[in-house]
Amino acid sequence: YPPLSEKRWKKRYLYKKGKTRSMKDQFGRTIDYMRISITDRCNLRCRYCMPERIEWLPKEELLSLEEIAEICRLASSLGIRKIKITGGEPLVRNGCDRLIGMISQIPGIDQVSLTTNGILLADYAESLRRQGLHAVNVSLDALDPDIYAQITGYHKLPQVLDGLHAMEQQQIPTKINVVLQRGVNETECLALAELARHHAFDVRFIELMPIGHGKQLTCVSNTEVFQKLSDHYGTLLPDPDTHGNGPARYYTVEGFQGSIGFISAIHGKFCNSCNRIRLTATGDLKPCLCYQERILVKDALRSGDTKEAQKLLAQAIFQKPAAHCFETLSSITEDAEMSRIGG
Ligand code: SAM
Ligand code: SF4
Repeated sequence: YPPLSEKRWKKRYLYKKGKTRSMKDQFGRTIDYMRISITDRCNLRCRYCMPERIEWLPKEELLSLEEIAEICRLASSLGIRKIKITGGEPLVRNGCDRLIGMISQIPGIDQVSLTTNGILLADYAESLRRQGLHAVNVSLDALDPDIYAQITGYHKLPQVLDGLHAMEQQQIPTKINVVLQRGVNETECLALAELARHHAFDVRFIELMPIGHGKQLTCVSNTEVFQKLSDHYGTLLPDPDTHGNGPARYYTVEGFQGSIGFISAIHGKFCNSCNRIRLTATGDLKPCLCYQERILVKDALRSGDTKEAQKLLAQAIFQKPAAHCFETLSSITEDAEMSRIGG
């Protein structure tokens, strides 16, 4: 799409007779999804995401749960319909389940989902269902306990498997996110795909992105994973069902309860259908994962200027760049850890 001027964008996409008609960016993409990181802290140290030693952000710099809910309210008035809570590890923040309850009651918000490493999921499962959690993504890169510990720094695989079991019991729709690294866990892809045979979990392969520590590791392309799975299972058929709101392409395998998904940010750029903005735990809006650019909303919010905060949200939408530049490492300007951005 050729970009629109801000004046034409406002006229065409933002407001009509004082009401929001839709929320599109300067390239005409509908933006209806916001990922919110609620903490930079984590109970794992995945090698592509976080250094072993890290200084946590001071508590007062983080948005409070009430402030996050307020931003969701403003975003909903602009056309955001789906919220994903992420981190760091969102479940290590006290009140994560309560926040999900607060957001799911906001008029206009259709879905609240969670991305978690699964360690605390069993403890919170019942509460998350009661609070109205719509769906969960569990990050799990290996079923071999030693490889799991090598990647995450901890022998906590049994807790994750308990978490998955608890999601089944609570009947919360669950996707499993797998990031493969060359020479580390590429051998795990078939075992992980098998989870979709025996459970109604979608298993999704996400290409490693050159953000933070991911820059030092080697991505396994989804073309290669697709080939490996096709060689093993025979033809993978495109799944006609809708599975969510994101860029994943889904395929079915005969006899499987769940589907196999591929999120190919590097080898299958999907920027022309990007539908999201990000909010960091410190209240920065991020129009694109790849660039450092941030729009700071916390000060406006804390000074009670909700109109200004809403304007900043609209600005973050408008300013979304046309595409990421992960294929040209020298052009990536984001240098924060993924745990600070939220993935
Ligand atoms: N702690 C939660 C979890 O692990 O799901 C939520 C935060 S984590 C940053 C969100 C997602 O980002 C995880 O699925 C993780 O695998 C993914 N991630 C982190 N660094 C990545 C990278 N460099 N490339 C691709 N995905 C990455
Ligand atoms: Fe923690 Fe998630 Fe990053 Fe792993 S990927 S270190 S679980 S924030």
